[in-house]
Amino acid sequence: MTEQDGDDRCTYILISWGNNVSSIRLHTAIPGPESQRWMQRRNAAIPRGPYHSVPIFIASGEGALLTDVDGNTFLDFAGGLGCLNVGHCAPAVVEALRDQAGQSTHSCFHVTPNVGYVQLAEALNARTPGKFAKRTLLVNSGAEAVENAVKIARAFTKRQAIICFEDAFHGRTLLAMSLTSKTHPYKIGFGPFAPEVYRIPYAYCYRCSYSKTYPSCGVYCAHELEHVFKRVVEADNVAAVIAEPVLGEGGFVAPPREFFQVLQSVCRRHGILFIADEVQTGYGRTGTLFACEQFGIEPDLLTAGKSIAGGLPLASVTGRAEIMDTPVVGGLGGTFGGNPLACAAALAVLETYDQVDLSARSLRIGTIFEETTSDWSRRFSIVGDIRGLGAMRGIEFVTDRQTRAPAKQQTEAIAHACYERGLIVLTAGTLGNVIRLLVPLVATDEQIREGLSVLEAAISSVVPETVEKAAIG
Ligand code: PLP
Repeated sequence: MTEQDGDDRCTYILISWGNNVSSIRLHTAIPGPESQRWMQRRNAAIPRGPYHSVPIFIASGEGALLTDVDGNTFLDFAGGLGCLNVGHCAPAVVEALRDQAGQSTHSCFHVTPNVGYVQLAEALNARTPGKFAKRTLLVNSGAEAVENAVKIARAFTKRQAIICFEDAFHGRTLLAMSLTSKTHPYKIGFGPFAPEVYRIPYAYCYRCSYSKTYPSCGVYCAHELEHVFKRVVEADNVAAVIAEPVLGEGGFVAPPREFFQVLQSVCRRHGILFIADEVQTGYGRTGTLFACEQFGIEPDLLTAGKSIAGGLPLASVTGRAEIMDTPVVGGLGGTFGGNPLACAAALAVLETYDQVDLSARSLRIGTIFEETTSDWSRRFSIVGDIRGLGAMRGIEFVTDRQTRAPAKQQTEAIAHACYERGLIVLTAGTLGNVIRLLVPLVATDEQIREGLSVLEAAISSVVPETVEKAAIG
């Protein structure tokens, strides 16, 4: 439905997609005039480096909705890049922040410790996979968590090499960037990279680097690690293997369950630590608090971030006590790590997580996604693969199903068509041909269906439905 109404400044447009009650409310073309004005100021004041998926400036947010400076309301399937599993302005988070702001905003953990840090560390030690003694270090970002996990692994094992994966993303600081796979735009012009980083194929079954097929391959890619020790780097020099349980920036690829079990057993055989980077998969995104739970593995070190503090900058490294305690006093930390405001928000996130049962919501969102998209492969020739775990879902687009040639331009056009219709989505994938869902887990069933109907309309607007559907219809 589209209503139009005259207005001096702009055309009033109210759009509803597939539902009687629409969350999306657009009053201007997108981006609106105020957003455009701010974009001009942004371009004059800020380097071009930081990109924008959607060129709108946000005034406020609530749950899964965002309202821009022109008064347009969007359905947000990006969640601030996966940081808002509890939703925008989750009431418990806002209240905790108000309370904490009136008490203490910063004293620095290294000068005088704050109780929130201790409480959050205790909670993460109890709630991360593995019933062994643990410790948690708090830092400011996912990249910093990854850097610290590697530092700790090196200090404990007294080894230097780190094995990471093709299509992995671990952040943008020097070591994290070195562990990240995608070259453009993350690594262009930023070398030399950190040494002793070795990369091997992930279990990306749709694009298997070994041209094998699951399950007949017997997760060859995981067993291949033993050969890597012979051909690439000796096992005795490897401190850790670091992996995302489900590839995030790399395209929302969920590997077969055995992949990590085999990897972890190979690591154990050689005294190599296994680091699970749960910065994007954590906090219920995949249907459990941490995705490792679903793969039946207990990492030696686990990094979390993004949704940990409802949008406040915070990240963590949790691991076996004896490993975490290796660095000397003063060897770990930073000025803002474990800031009282961020810790207060993070504790409120865990409270909300339990109250709303966000794991159940995540699974429910995954089910709605599966039901809604079940015939999209048949209807849209551009759809190559639909996949994911819990609410961590992605669609990979190809121009040719035989060759699986990536449909990068069309994927960007689909994301563009989505935001013009009031749905914020993100692309992903090393080949830039995946649309991913990072919707706040508090989104209602109706909002999920509404967003998916916008996505469907956007796909149709870029690539018409296949003949097959026309014939059926
Ligand atoms: N690790 C993973 C798996 C991520 O997805 C990200 C960010 O997308 C990072 C690390 C880096 O986190 P940050 O951007 O907070 O530094």
